[in-house]
Amino acid sequence: MSPTLSAEFATAFPELGVPWQAERAPDPRLLILNEALATELGLDPARLGGPDGVALLTGATPPAGARPVAQVYSGHQFGSYAPRLGDGRALLLGELRHPDGSLRDLHLKGSGRTPFSRGGDGLAAVGPMLREYVIGEAMHALGIPTTRALGVVATGRAVQRESPLPGAVLARVARSHLRVGTFQYAAVNGDRDLLQRLVDHAIARHHPQAAGAATPALGLLEAVTEAQADLVAGWMLVGFVHGVMNTDNMTISGESIDYGPCAFMDAFDPATVFSSIDHAGRYAYGNQPPIAEWNLSRFAETLLPLLDDDQDKAVEIAVEALSRFRTRYATGWVRGMRAKLGLSAQVPQEQAHPLIDDLLPLLAANSVDFTSFFRRLAAAARGDAEPVRGMVLDLAGIDAWLDRWRALQPDPDAMDAVNPVYIPRNHRVEEALDAATDGDLGPLERLVAAVRSPYVERAEHAAYADPAPDGNVGYRTFCGT
Ligand code: AMP
Ligand code: MG
Repeated sequence: MSPTLSAEFATAFPELGVPWQAERAPDPRLLILNEALATELGLDPARLGGPDGVALLTGATPPAGARPVAQVYSGHQFGSYAPRLGDGRALLLGELRHPDGSLRDLHLKGSGRTPFSRGGDGLAAVGPMLREYVIGEAMHALGIPTTRALGVVATGRAVQRESPLPGAVLARVARSHLRVGTFQYAAVNGDRDLLQRLVDHAIARHHPQAAGAATPALGLLEAVTEAQADLVAGWMLVGFVHGVMNTDNMTISGESIDYGPCAFMDAFDPATVFSSIDHAGRYAYGNQPPIAEWNLSRFAETLLPLLDDDQDKAVEIAVEALSRFRTRYATGWVRGMRAKLGLSAQVPQEQAHPLIDDLLPLLAANSVDFTSFFRRLAAAARGDAEPVRGMVLDLAGIDAWLDRWRALQPDPDAMDAVNPVYIPRNHRVEEALDAATDGDLGPLERLVAAVRSPYVERAEHAAYADPAPDGNVGYRTFCGT
């Protein structure tokens, strides 16, 4: 099992990667392999699941051509700038060539200490790495750009957290690991040549349409702004809370990355926060669009020297480019909400907008489960409003809203195609990760099977459709575990 990896990033950016080796896993055991992704990449799942494949997935035997590096980057963490973060427990093994011609990073997480580990042990536990697997597959199935896990291997080494936990390595596939923080690192060191090379690399790899722009750095800023606006609109439409939108966790490609303290919201509430360390609610559900915009401003700052020699002029150009975020986000959100409500193109915006704007406070005031509401709403379009009425205490409010909505002749089949039955519900994720930590992968496999086909209701996955009995009140997630 030796896929060919290239070392494009390592070669092009020696100043952004330290050649490094994964720590040896004492007793590696494959926990889960993403056969669909392997096949998509042209890899043989059977060989990937064998001893050579496991050696690849843990970094024990980097394939021919690979020159693994720990990448360096900066980042604003909860608003505070950290000039030198980098892969403290991760490695870029190299790039794979997707059959469509584009490159994919093959990256390890939990692969041991590096020069960027600071106080950390460089390791990861089984539960959080499997969480990345599940959430990535769910996001992919929901049509939201995301990094994906190729596999998770238990290392046979215990990881000390609050208690000792079984350790694991995640093999992750991404369009790249270029982050806003990568550009921040280049900019803070005042290296204009490096910055220009990063811009050219990012354009070639992710946003080729920007290559023809009069100022390519501006073309890149505009393209990344739009990609991030689309991404966050996608999150908001499924009730996803990333939880740690630091600038080092925001990709230039526009893929979601680093599923740490993330979770899907149950009852609709813009203030929803799950992360145990997000005391101020900086990364609450409803704050995600303005935070993405804030992160993009940090990205724009790094590009100023390439936008214009006159600093004031450069700022003016950047501000103008960033203004695209709000229109692009609003367009994506409204388009998505119209689809969730089954409204045809004939319904004018003057009718759709107030309908959307009036629904959200109703959901919030009645603590309505976000995912179930939209799915059950299709029944109301088919003539049975009881499933949604049963979720709302304010019956007069929902009835008045339903009358206005039904007058627009919503299409229930179109709604079923965009409103998921199955998302990785928090109580099911916890149940699956707990069982896997104790050695039983059955619940995880069933959960993955449910979320991989989110729109088609299936009797055997019924248990995965329901909200938690207690609505997950007080549910907390943890970072960097
Ligand atoms: P994250 O919030 O998971 O994206 O991580 C933020 C930073 O902390 C990154 O530079 C990580 O590499 C680093 N980090 C997280 N957990 C560990 C760990 N257990 N050991 C070393 N570094 C870590
Ligand atoms: Mg990160």
